[in-house]
Amino acid sequence: MQITESLNDTEAKICDFGTAPAQALAGYKILNTVVETDVGALALFAGQDVRLVRGARVYGAAGKQEFAVMVRLPVRRMLCSCCGGVTIGRQWHNRDDGFGLCVDCIDFCHRRETPERFQSLYGARGVHFDVKST
Ligand SMILES: [Zn+2]
Repeated sequence: MQITESLNDTEAKICDFGTAPAQALAGYKILNTVVETDVGALALFAGQDVRLVRGARVYGAAGKQEFAVMVRLPVRRMLCSCCGGVTIGRQWHNRDDGFGLCVDCIDFCHRRETPERFQSLYGARGVHFDVKST
């Protein structure tokens, strides 16, 4: 799956049920959940870089459902889990806090893993590692 980064992606968006893993690959992390209507949920997060992933419908509350609130993680200073060097990236949930992958180690680490396992270990290129500094 190719996830491309959009530069002006700062509007809250409602996403389909089951897409949380895809949002995580795009650099988002679940913060909490809210129960709202579509309009209400979008209004709560207007102008914020938030993905609202549809969850369960709420019995007895017309039009309302649960949404997982996913916020975009910041690009930050990290240490490479392979060589220990300083790099920048976004935290991936399968890495220890503050650890990522530096650009010099990508090929080396990629060669030793299947693409699926590499992604599960390090996240997405351009999102979690090999990011452009902003
Ligand atoms: Zn490294």
